[in-house]
Amino acid sequence: MQILRKPSNLYLLIVSIVGIVTFLLLYQFKFTASHEMVLLYCFVGAILLLNHYTILIPPEGNSLSMDSAVYLACLYLFGLDLTLAVLISNSIIYAAYHRKVIWWKHVFNFSIYTLMIVVSYFTFIYSSGEIGSIHITELLPYLLSLSAYFLSNTILISFYFLLLEESSFSSNFVGIIKDKAFLVSYSSTLLLSMVLGSLIEDKGIFGLFLFVSIAVLLSVAFNQNFRLFQAISNKANKDYLTGLNNHGYFKELLEKELRLSKETDHPLSVALLDIDDFKKYNDLYGHIQGDQLLRDFGKLLENHTHKNQYSVARYGGEEFAILMPGTTAKAALGFVNQLRKITNDTHFKGTHALPYGCLSFSAGIAQYEKGTYNGTELLNKSDQAMYYSKSQGKNLVELYNEQKFEEASDENHSYEKQFEDAEQQLKIFLSKDVYTYRHSKRVFQYSVDFARKLNLNEHERKILTLGALIHDIGKLEIPRDVLNKTGKLEPHEWEMMKKHVIWGKEIISTNKQLEELVPLVELHHERYDGKGYPYGLKGENIPKLARVLCIIDSFDAMTTERPYQKTKTFSEGIEELRKCAGQQFDQELVEPFIELIQEQYMFKDQAQPTV
Ligand code: GH3
Ligand code: MG
Ligand code: MG
Repeated sequence: MQILRKPSNLYLLIVSIVGIVTFLLLYQFKFTASHEMVLLYCFVGAILLLNHYTILIPPEGNSLSMDSAVYLACLYLFGLDLTLAVLISNSIIYAAYHRKVIWWKHVFNFSIYTLMIVVSYFTFIYSSGEIGSIHITELLPYLLSLSAYFLSNTILISFYFLLLEESSFSSNFVGIIKDKAFLVSYSSTLLLSMVLGSLIEDKGIFGLFLFVSIAVLLSVAFNQNFRLFQAISNKANKDYLTGLNNHGYFKELLEKELRLSKETDHPLSVALLDIDDFKKYNDLYGHIQGDQLLRDFGKLLENHTHKNQYSVARYGGEEFAILMPGTTAKAALGFVNQLRKITNDTHFKGTHALPYGCLSFSAGIAQYEKGTYNGTELLNKSDQAMYYSKSQGKNLVELYNEQKFEEASDENHSYEKQFEDAEQQLKIFLSKDVYTYRHSKRVFQYSVDFARKLNLNEHERKILTLGALIHDIGKLEIPRDVLNKTGKLEPHEWEMMKKHVIWGKEIISTNKQLEELVPLVELHHERYDGKGYPYGLKGENIPKLARVLCIIDSFDAMTTERPYQKTKTFSEGIEELRKCAGQQFDQELVEPFIELIQEQYMFKDQAQPTV
């Protein structure tokens, strides 16, 4: 009974019952004359053939069967009884042949046909139509009964789709009526019933043979055309290399979805993905292998977006786009980050030579908002966010955020020169230790936000943020195999690692511009309880900004996800900060930092940063 709670199922049941009862009340066919049996066989055979050889109509692939013409010709010439006999025989054979189709669909279909035939019959009779022969001069009863046949079909089916999809009845109905190709082919099929009737009247069963052979020929020819149409439109819409949608078609789909979102207020997000360092891959292995990587990556995207019914396209050379209807930017961020992680963890030939040791991409996401003008605007926003991901060290997904982008550019402007100097030095990490590069970039971003939260003055803010950016610069002196070691460090390696604070101090001391940053670089591993390095300074003896940096630095290290490695979530990171407050960290500073994370970063919890 649960199943009947759904209005569409209840509707199916009611129509089926009404159809069957109508059939039982009106059906009186007796198997008497043998010529009637021959007629019955021939009509059933004709309908089975016509149901097999349907005509496909582009662009959606609706199919049209000419069986209606046969039912109606039978009705006009031999009356209701034989027509219903043809219908029930045909329905039984059809259901036995298509056993895989669920039984109630057969019943529903049979009932609909019964109702259409009965409605059409009575319209014909009550408009003074005469059963027995086709009277070309008396067209009105035929036209009325054909219209009744068509309308009852359209209304019965539209009503079902209304209940199923909760779209408006009138839009379904109008949709069918407005579809010119459908209307023309449907009404001409119905009119053919008169031609068929005349043929049978004149030539008997041979008339029916003639009609069926022409219909089968037409079906074969039409279907060839339809396949050709599909092949051509596939070529026009698909990318030749990956088989994904191409740029032009993606934009078409985007505009369509955008219109839908405007009407229904459903969310819609778009992501642009750009493969990181693809030029390097091409340089290393050549274009042919590069093409293969694009194909493989395209397949990965298709496999993982298929179940969500998202559309994927190759947007440009090594750029891909995903259209996510019904998805908020936040949900899209979670999804694309998951994709990024899967990409990192999937083996692709030769990608170990890329800076992250795996295939990675940078992505930007933008969500449709009320004021969004068109698809191009949305794509531009995703593009900006994607470039921001690139600038933050790649293998990242960013949401478009107007305010943040503007603020970021303002901040950089005021101390542009020093920032550029620091960044220039940091860039060396890109070829040596990309993890440290990315970590420094993130610590910088946290420090910008935390400086604001702590209401630091302009000068302190400058020192903290630049110091954050460059605090690990001393790691440049550490050999690659120690830096990138995934297992536990040996004691001597650990001693070397600890020296990075001293080496860092030496490196930046050579640049007068960066002199003020020395305490941050040198002291960010000191602990509040005096158990840190290099000097074991305690409490307030550690400069405040170094204490601030120590918290940020540790939090990012805890919560950063590396391929193949488990990490703390933001919530677990916060728990750890609280646990170590007063020992490793300055208690006074821990709480405001946690507040900052909760206010500005927590929603990204499911999308944690990667190294
Ligand atoms: P970034 O991390 O900044 O994105 O660097 P990148 O090297 O991926 O990006 P860049 O835009 O500098 O280079 C993109 C390269 O993609 C350049 C071009 O040789 C390559 N490319 C574009 N289309 C194709 C293609 O169809 N096949 C192959 N094999 N390479 C392509
Ligand atoms: Mg590119
Ligand atoms: Mg690229």
